[in-house]
Amino acid sequence: MTENPTAEHATAEHKLEDHTHGENCGHEALEHGDHVDYVHDGHRHAAHGDHYDEH
Ligand SMILES: [Zn+2]
Ligand SMILES: [Zn+2]
Ligand SMILES: [Zn+2]
Ligand SMILES: [Zn+2]
Repeated sequence: MTENPTAEHATAEHKLEDHTHGENCGHEALEHGDHVDYVHDGHRHAAHGDHYDEH
């Protein structure tokens, strides 16, 4: 997969290897347009390919 960063794109400091969000992962899930963000210690993660974005 090709990385194509934009001004709207910020990669989270946490990776899927650190924690995989999902049902019952313990974090609040928020619908955000066509995807789901997970509230994680004051920031929000959105799964994006092989990493998380900060939303
Ligand atoms: Zn995080
Ligand atoms: Zn989680
Ligand atoms: Zn989002
Ligand atoms: Zn991304």
